[in-house]
Amino acid sequence: MSIIKALVYYGKEDLRLEDFPTPRIESGTEVIIKVHYAGVCGSELARIIGDAAIPLEHPVPHGHEFAGVVQEVGSRVTTVRPGDRVAVAPKTVCGICEDCRNDRVGQCANTRGFIGVKLPGGWAEYCKVEEQNVVKLPDNVSTFAGAFLEPLTVAVHGLRVGEYTPGGRTAIVGCGTIGALTLQAALAQGASEVTAFDSSGRALALAKEMGAHFTVCTTGDWRAQAWEQTGGRLYDTVFETGGAAFTEKAAIELTGAHGTLVYIGTPFSQIVFSPQEFEQINRKELWIRGSWQSYSTPFPGAEWPTAARLLPKIRLEGMVDRVIAPEKIFDALEDARAKRLHGKIMMRWDTAADPPPFAC
Ligand SMILES: [Zn+2]
Ligand SMILES: [Zn+2]
Repeated sequence: MSIIKALVYYGKEDLRLEDFPTPRIESGTEVIIKVHYAGVCGSELARIIGDAAIPLEHPVPHGHEFAGVVQEVGSRVTTVRPGDRVAVAPKTVCGICEDCRNDRVGQCANTRGFIGVKLPGGWAEYCKVEEQNVVKLPDNVSTFAGAFLEPLTVAVHGLRVGEYTPGGRTAIVGCGTIGALTLQAALAQGASEVTAFDSSGRALALAKEMGAHFTVCTTGDWRAQAWEQTGGRLYDTVFETGGAAFTEKAAIELTGAHGTLVYIGTPFSQIVFSPQEFEQINRKELWIRGSWQSYSTPFPGAEWPTAARLLPKIRLEGMVDRVIAPEKIFDALEDARAKRLHGKIMMRWDTAADPPPFAC
């Protein structure tokens, strides 16, 4: 049996670079992708070095943010062919449950698993997926940028479920990868005034370069600054993307009367509200909307082609901490533990893939 190199997830602090069987086409609807680039998501760091480890009966290559070139397709595949540059929508859905049939594919519980968690993912030389999970990249999108398609769809989905109207004042709370992408997606929709909040001066400087009109450092007196900047009106739309207790709570404070607050960030710690803090939701009569991943009907949803068209306009420079060979992931995880990362870890799985368009 021929083998490929893959990073297989076994559990907390247990990621292994090892041999994995080469995927083979077994049904007419399958597509094999030669992976070029694969990013590391915050959720993956949480699973590997944080407290979000998950038990898996059958360990498989991890990774759900990736792009590459189609290597081989099953006999019934019609939308892509060998040589096409593609990315992957990693969720799988049943298509027939009540949620799937009622425009809630993102909530389908009959899933076969998530590609890169339970199903073999993109931290490997090759990855086999179903045709419906393959998203063709436009001609002007490289496979390097294509590895950002999945996180960009998360931002696009947040704008979509929040029924974003760009005319008001917008706040982005948390400027990590998803925050920076949400900022840029909002600007691309014509946002007239966006304020970025983060505790890192570096992240805020980058947000400014990306087009944020104002930035506020949350280690300072952010309440007073927000108040002053908005004349006490606060923000019409707030996108929370940090997932930290601080950002989850600050987002409520920053949303103005009858404003919309979209929670995109996945919480990773306990969040405790005082009655007065929680009461702001009542007092200001806020619209609060959760946003989960990036899927809508028909699967995988309009988020995917929308994000693919948006990608060439997205500034990725400054968002990548390093581009590394897969075997260097362990050093990068060490830096993640020590909180020395400034941006995404990107793995280059094919040394023949076009290099990144900027130094990183
Ligand atoms: Zn992710
Ligand atoms: Zn379903």
